[in-house]
Amino acid sequence: MKIHEYQAKQIFADYEIPVSDEILCHSVEDVEKAADKLGLPVVVKAQVLAGGRGKAGGVKLAKTKEELVDAANQILGMDIKGYTVEKVLTAKAISFTDEFYVGLTIDRNTKSVVFMASAEGGVEIEEVAKDNPDAIHKFVIDAEIGLMPFQARQIAFKLFDDIKLVRQGADLFEKLYRVFMDTDASLAEINPLVITADGNLMALDGKMNFDDNALFRQAEILEMREPTEDEKTEIEAKEKGLSFIKLDGNIGCMVNGAGLAMATMDIIKIYGGEPANFLDIGGSSNPQKVIDAMNLLLADKNVKAVMINIFGGITRCDDVAKGIISALDQMNINIPIVVRLSGTNAAEGLEILKKTNLVTVASMGEAAEKAIEMASQTV
Ligand code: GDP
Ligand code: MN
Repeated sequence: MKIHEYQAKQIFADYEIPVSDEILCHSVEDVEKAADKLGLPVVVKAQVLAGGRGKAGGVKLAKTKEELVDAANQILGMDIKGYTVEKVLTAKAISFTDEFYVGLTIDRNTKSVVFMASAEGGVEIEEVAKDNPDAIHKFVIDAEIGLMPFQARQIAFKLFDDIKLVRQGADLFEKLYRVFMDTDASLAEINPLVITADGNLMALDGKMNFDDNALFRQAEILEMREPTEDEKTEIEAKEKGLSFIKLDGNIGCMVNGAGLAMATMDIIKIYGGEPANFLDIGGSSNPQKVIDAMNLLLADKNVKAVMINIFGGITRCDDVAKGIISALDQMNINIPIVVRLSGTNAAEGLEILKKTNLVTVASMGEAAEKAIEMASQTV
């Protein structure tokens, strides 16, 4: 789960990480009022769940009333990486002498939290990682012990010469680590962390992502959730007992079991196709689930063919077949469907499907091939 910059900075502020005074705004009038309160110059910043806003023109400094109104007008309603800007943050402009990057994330290779720090702040860290990877210092943190004060100072010494800043930095890094751990974050990033004109550290930007599997114990974080359209669909699916992840391809997949669902996406790829989704309908034999799943799949306008891949264990193939039949009855489906049933009651299931015009095949490979062929013929 992602949150906006203003929300990340609210969390930072709760942990006494310095951030500038800022006000969330929804209209040009809001921005003007906020600037009256904060005093010019201010920075108007698009609040969307995407990075690189600066480059996209979504961060603007305003020194005068005119510039302020222009900036607000330009940014509100702007499209950044597919997100429409509906709110902006009006922040007191900060003069700074230096920009740094600091971020905490989980490193699956070392199975630990890793602290990244770089003097190449301000720009997107992915670019630094590509062009100048040595400029990013990485510190592996033992989760049992946490970030030790000496380690926080080590990181700070990599970034700052001035001992006062080293102390401030070490203190700030320990706070950032606490934020990261307390909130079950998967990312906590400050880019840029700046040295202000009066020689102190301040977080000018904030980015946080959270582990979805921990949200059940993070009520306050969950309240901040503003799901994207895709996430809304995923949440809806979850409520119906389906695991659904939207992807960009054109072959809708309906599968029972996460492992088989992964294998299904793989085999579509092997045969040169692109899956439109991951969908695990789970282990039960409830026909309603098949209907819900069909509804989910077909809501995606990119879907040109559906591949149903069921291995009957606890799930009975005849129940799935019944579900498919009632879905066909209830819905007006004009997208080709290929079905592969195997395992418990597969023969019975296939018998039921004979009455329909669905294509049934015996193997996953055939199903993938057929689905790709049918998708290419659907307009
Ligand atoms: P991002 O592009 O989405 O990462 O948005 P940021 O919040 O990081 O803003 C982009 C850039 O705008 C920063 O790297 C800064 O250089 C600049 N910026 C942001 N806030 C201020 C500010 O208060 N004063 C000044 N002078 N520049 C700022
Ligand atoms: Mn930034």
